[in-house]
Amino acid sequence: MLDASGLMVFYENMLALNNVSIGCHENSIVGVFGANSAGKSTLMYTLSGIMKDIKRKEEMAGGERITVLGKIRYLGNDISALKPSLRAKMGIILCPERRRIFRESSVLENLRIGAYLAPSSKAKETLDYVFEVYPALKKLRKRIGGFLSGGEQQMLAIGRALMAQPRLLLLDEPLLGLSPLMQTILVRSTREIRDEKGISIIVTEQYARPVLPIVDYAFILENGAAVMEGTREELLRNPDVRSAYFGV
Ligand code: ATP
Repeated sequence: MLDASGLMVFYENMLALNNVSIGCHENSIVGVFGANSAGKSTLMYTLSGIMKDIKRKEEMAGGERITVLGKIRYLGNDISALKPSLRAKMGIILCPERRRIFRESSVLENLRIGAYLAPSSKAKETLDYVFEVYPALKKLRKRIGGFLSGGEQQMLAIGRALMAQPRLLLLDEPLLGLSPLMQTILVRSTREIRDEKGISIIVTEQYARPVLPIVDYAFILENGAAVMEGTREELLRNPDVRSAYFGV
């Protein structure tokens, strides 16, 4: 459903993405693994189109020059030139790193904000679904976002992304800083979302191990370049990949 090729992103003269080609099939979970600064967030911003907003803001502020090259095809259309709001309408929804929830708003308000693109009938149905996947959020629905634990905030961030009716959900480091138990809960719910709603998912992580069981296909990013790709089994067979990213 998504096929991006030759993606290049420069922050001034710094090459953050170097000729990256990445794809995701309908109903798949694709992992993108890489160390700090490998370019994971840059890739997610580029696929979602948010990079266009970042670039424009920088230009308006007279800041650094950002250059984005490459082609992104999605559901048979070339969306490379589309702004992020139009990509979101087509179902590409980013759940950004560090769970940028609205800290002063309640859980329910955060979720409703996510639904602004969706018809109201869908919003109600999806809200019920979010509470089914994350029962903890139902109990906390009146709690202010800033008072949630890290794991609860991540559930809320994913819940809010679901409210926007994704067909392709981009999860940027959802497990960052969370306990092993919370990681297990989130990984399981990610698979549920794909299985039950048929939502395709691209998930980035520094360490592959916790998400490995649910990933159909994965890419390894190093210094902005996709240095390896394959099925879970193919990557596990490579001893360097195993020790660097899978911790096995
Ligand atoms: P992390 O795991 O630390 O979030 P990442 O893999 O998501 O890392 P990116 O955030 O995409 O990596 O950053 C890739 C490189 O681009 C890094 O060297 C980073 O410092 C640089 N970079 C990111 N955003 C900007 C920016 N707005 N201006 C200049 N350099 C940037």
